[in-house]
Amino acid sequence: MAQADLHIDLSAIAENWRALARASGPAETAAVVKADAYGLGADRVAPALAAAGARSFFVALAEEGAALRATLGDGPRIFVLSGHMEGDAQPIAQAGLIPVLNSPEQLTRHFQSLPGHPFGIQLDTGMNRLGFEEDEWRAVSAEASRAGPTLIMSHLACADEPGHAMNARQLAVFRRMTNGIDAPRSLAATGGILLGRDYLFDLTRPGIGLYGGMPFAQARPVVRLSLPVIQTRWVEPGETVGYGNTWTAPARRRIATLGAGYADGLIRAMSGRARVFDGDTPCPLVGRVSMDMIAADVTDLPGIPDRMDILGPRQGVDDLARAAGTIGYEILTSLGARYRRMHIGGAE
Ligand SMILES: *Cc1c(COP(=O)(O)O)cnc(C)c1O
Repeated sequence: MAQADLHIDLSAIAENWRALARASGPAETAAVVKADAYGLGADRVAPALAAAGARSFFVALAEEGAALRATLGDGPRIFVLSGHMEGDAQPIAQAGLIPVLNSPEQLTRHFQSLPGHPFGIQLDTGMNRLGFEEDEWRAVSAEASRAGPTLIMSHLACADEPGHAMNARQLAVFRRMTNGIDAPRSLAATGGILLGRDYLFDLTRPGIGLYGGMPFAQARPVVRLSLPVIQTRWVEPGETVGYGNTWTAPARRRIATLGAGYADGLIRAMSGRARVFDGDTPCPLVGRVSMDMIAADVTDLPGIPDRMDILGPRQGVDDLARAAGTIGYEILTSLGARYRRMHIGGAE
């Protein structure tokens, strides 16, 4: 079997949600499942989170929200972070989604096309990505407040750096922009929850921490990615491995070719930097990552295993990300469609 196995531990995801819910204190803890639950399969992950107690979910797009509604059924609230885009009225109405309105244009569009339909508001407090600017908000806040927003939220740009001055600055702006407005408020994603009580408000929105990623250092690992060994060979000193001859054998070495590559999300930046594991024993990657394959130096293993792990307890999502010069979020959401996905634990 040449397919690589991606094990996704739904009980670990549920446990991470419960831990972040405890850290959120009295605030409600939602779950962010955009981008197919960070690449791990929203159709399996979201029901496990609902079973753990999550009652509010966040997606990026109305289309994701409609699919999630079909998965979860009626009951849970589904917020759409891109808001109310042109053409979204139908999926928003049909699937009972709550768009988080980001601009005066979206507010007008929502009030005109779906009067009386629930909505949230996103304020920009300095990240300059999504949300009403302070003057735009001042102009419509009375009208918006009368309509009774389900949620008023903003997003922190530097919450993974607890000492960063931006956190307190955004907190102050968020307070100033929402003072006196009678609606539930939300500021914290995973990083914000860990900044402490001031940042919790009424609802928290963790994503990456559920999936075992930093900055939630106490997270239980969620994924294990196990690659089949397709072939092994001995190479003599001076022989090279892979495209571009980037690795030259310093001595007689045994090389294993493993069945996943950059088309599966094992990005080329991992070349020569990450490791694969036989149980607890690491073996370095050698040469360049190919589209469907990578090579590892397995000379020091006592025997050749059928499979080796590139993600697991010894090399987690953030270890692999560090080796490749990126972040855990990108490693997870890049995981490809070719894996045999095995969801273990969780609610059935
Ligand atoms: C992605 C996202 C989240 C979740 O962030 P994590 O860092 O993954 O916890 C929360 N809120 C907004 C607005 C987001 O875009």
